[in-house]
Amino acid sequence: MNHRKKRILVTGGAGFLGSHLCDRLVQEGHEVICLDNFFSGSKRNIEHLLEKPNFELMRHDLVQPIFLEVDEIYNLACPASPIHYQHNPVKTVKTNVMGAINMLGLAKRVKAKILQASTSEIYGDPKVHPQREDYWGNVNTIGPRSCYDEGKRCAETLFFDYYRQNHVNIRVVRIFNTYGPRMHPHDGRVVSNFIVQALTGQDITVFGDGSQTRSFCYVDDLIDGLIRMMNGRDDFFGPVNLGNPGEFSVLTLAGMVIELTDSQSRIVFRPLPRDDPLQRQPDIGLAKQHLDWEPRVDLQEGLMKTIEYFRKTL
Ligand code: NAD
Ligand code: UDP
Repeated sequence: MNHRKKRILVTGGAGFLGSHLCDRLVQEGHEVICLDNFFSGSKRNIEHLLEKPNFELMRHDLVQPIFLEVDEIYNLACPASPIHYQHNPVKTVKTNVMGAINMLGLAKRVKAKILQASTSEIYGDPKVHPQREDYWGNVNTIGPRSCYDEGKRCAETLFFDYYRQNHVNIRVVRIFNTYGPRMHPHDGRVVSNFIVQALTGQDITVFGDGSQTRSFCYVDDLIDGLIRMMNGRDDFFGPVNLGNPGEFSVLTLAGMVIELTDSQSRIVFRPLPRDDPLQRQPDIGLAKQHLDWEPRVDLQEGLMKTIEYFRKTL
């Protein structure tokens, strides 16, 4: 690749998405600093990078300030699965808000470009379908998901205030459900949960009647979108949706996982968690137009790769 070698900080770099991002950036020859407190991430995700001369691992909690010299920051630190982010909701808010302030302060001081991993959750249980970036969302401020949703919304606010007030060079991406190898096998997210259940012969737990929908993006596509956004024009800073517009009901996903794993598992129905969004699908018009980006891996192909990973690791 033809580009300048940069010093890049990835917060949450030992997590699912962060570790894949570190892989790509190390491979491109950049100096990568991976910062993580290992709350939901794991050293195993990045252990293959530890011997690389252009990779450095730091155990640090983003709620505390840190002083580093970097050119770019990808701010991914935050537990992403409902089980993890609801485990200590106050901490989730702190990580989102104080973490964003600490990273934006760092970006301001050292004049680094900074990208925020925001989320489709900022649309809440959307009244507009599919979701476009100019939709303001329908979010409960006081429910079990609020620590994450409102934390991420406040982080977006901070990014735009640091841009307007301090001219920080920002990027904001709203990531829709992404899956793939290195998802935590027990963090309760639907793709990993169904695959682990199918491979270990447990019942497949569909919440509600399974008619709620999600749009699932394979991790490689998403990482490609993040890097394009960081490297894109300075006058396109987002927010921009990144996700796969293919929309599937949770019940359809369960059927696909059973078929692809050739599993004997039965589907069982469990109560729908509170405030679980009923439908979700990204409008990716902006990403197509400004980043020339769209996903390439369809759900069947992505599921097969993910199943292969879990078969090896379980
Ligand atoms: P993940 O839980 O695997 O990774 C998050 C990482 O952040 C973990 O390694 C965790 O240990 C670390 N972390 C958490 N709190 C921290 C703190 N206070 N200080 C330092 N490190 C901390 O989740 P992921 O799926 O890789 O998500 C990465 C980012 O992308 C998150 O910000 C998430 O909100 C966002 N996102 C992900 C998805 C998705 O579907 N995977 C969708 C929307 C948004
Ligand atoms: N879900 C499910 N069974 C599970 C885990 C999740 O039916 O074992 C459902 C969940 O209720 C939601 C969807 O799958 O409707 C996606 O859940 P996930 O936690 O992966 O992501 P999010 O709700 O944050 O989009």
